[in-house]
This record gives sequence, C-alpha cells and structure tokens, in this order.
Amino acid sequence: MQPVGYLERQAFQLCRSFFYKEKFDEVLTFGVHFYFLKFQINNFMKRFSTLCFVCVAVFSAFAQRPAADELKTSKGSLMIQPVFHASLVLTWDNKTIYIDTYGGAKAYKGLAAPDLILITDIHPDHLDTMTLNGIETSKAKFIVPQAAADMLPAKLKDKALVLNNGKNISEQGISISAIPMYNLPKSKDSKHTKGRGNGYVLNLGGKIVYISGDTEDIPEMRSLKNIDVAFVCMNRPYTMDINQASSAVIEFKPAIVYPYHYRGKDGLSDTEAFKKLVNVGNKAIDVRLRNWYTEY
Ligand code: ZN
Repeated sequence: MQPVGYLERQAFQLCRSFFYKEKFDEVLTFGVHFYFLKFQINNFMKRFSTLCFVCVAVFSAFAQRPAADELKTSKGSLMIQPVFHASLVLTWDNKTIYIDTYGGAKAYKGLAAPDLILITDIHPDHLDTMTLNGIETSKAKFIVPQAAADMLPAKLKDKALVLNNGKNISEQGISISAIPMYNLPKSKDSKHTKGRGNGYVLNLGGKIVYISGDTEDIPEMRSLKNIDVAFVCMNRPYTMDINQASSAVIEFKPAIVYPYHYRGKDGLSDTEAFKKLVNVGNKAIDVRLRNWYTEY
C-alpha cells in the first residue's frame, strides 16, 4: 500500500531513512516541515478561538435586556425592568412582580423569582404556560381575571387570586386595581371583549403604575388620573395605532410613558413617531423608548 498524503509520504521516507541509517538531511527536513505545520495549526486555532469569543460577545450584547430604570418611592426604589413584548418586572420593597410572563424562561434568567405574577388576558403573549412552567414560581401568587384563571395549568390554579374589572385588592403591601381593556367597537367577536381581560393600576409606595394590557383607546384609560408611569400598547389590528395611543396619553398625561406591546402584523409600530406626537401635545411627558424585542 502506498502512502497517499504529503505528511504520510514524508513519514514513510523518514522511516526508510532511519531503517537504512542514511539521508539524515531528509530526517531534518521532515522535522522542520512538521514543526512549521504545527506552528500554523496552532496559529489558526488561536485566531479561530478569538473569532468565536468575539462572536459570542457580540451575540451576548444583542441578547441583553434593556437596563432597568429606577424611581424613588416613599418606601425605597422601584426598579422597572422591561423584558419582552408586554412583559416587565417590577421590584419594590423586596417584592418582585412579573407582568404577563412571556418570551421563554431565558428572558428571566438572572432576575429574582416572582412574589407576584399579574396576567392581563388569555392570549398566549400574556398567558404563556410554556414560560410559566420554565421559571421558578414556588412562592408566586397569581393575580388574574377569571378567564385567565380558567386557562391556568392545574398546578398554578391554586396560586391564583381572581380579580375582575372594577375590583381592587391589596396583596403583599401593593394595592392593585383591575380596570377594563377591550377593543372598539364593543362586540362579541372582537379580539378583546370588554370584561374578559384586565388592565392594572398599582400603587407602589405612592407611585402609581398603569399597565394597559391589550386595549383600544377607551374612556376608562383616558379618564385615569395621577399616573406616574404608564405602559401603553400600540399594535394594529390587535390594539390601537400610534395616533390613538398618543391622543389618549396626551389626555391622561402620565409623568412617564413606555410604549410596549408594539409588534403587530406588519412589524413594529413607529415608537419614535409616537414620542414626537406625544411631545407635540405635551412636552412634559417623559416618553421612554426601550427595545422590547430582544430575542433571548
Ligand atoms: Zn397581546
């Protein structure tokens, strides 16, 4: 059998040279070739691992969730952590509150386990059992509308407190009000019928936080008062467009508004344009644009 490759050929020659104890120069040549080949492989491996490291670093940078914002309350800081689509995490007074847990368990990696989980509606971008099953919920209490309670997996149902439109509850020192969220005109076959899902208004140490859920431009939102932070949806055809959303926000004038839940059938809504519309109507409203669509 004949050796086929270059190295094999050289090795074959080398063995033969040793065998006949002649041609020591060939032994030397093979050694030099072997050394340089090894050197080149080492160099390639070093460059390859550097490239891999850079790729991982770039990917991690993209996969990072936005930085949390801090707000002073009468009882320490309120930390606001956007997560994904309509999901956020609030941390206040050593309590961690997850809203509409969605986007996969990885999206919550590194965040404290929830004491409270608020769910607004039955759709899978709000009640996502796969994500709920993937996170630590052993100490969590769920606040949900009846329709969502009916759809919770059996092992989570026992942890749920039902709160329907117009009702209030105080849970773990946090006052929670459920307000309507629905599409207009009101009809039985609308995507969000009135009375099924909840928007929430929370009082966290005197700071009032409004979470719209999936709603259109409804009078119950326009008549809100003294909202410090609002999370407002905007994606047609599911909720409202940026003109409806900005008009409503100008009327109920929260101190801070985060556009969220803004991915629709035709991609992302123009949140920059939303910000301009709001600030043309009221310069004082702090419109905070964050990336709610990091893939984790
Ligand atoms: Zn939704």
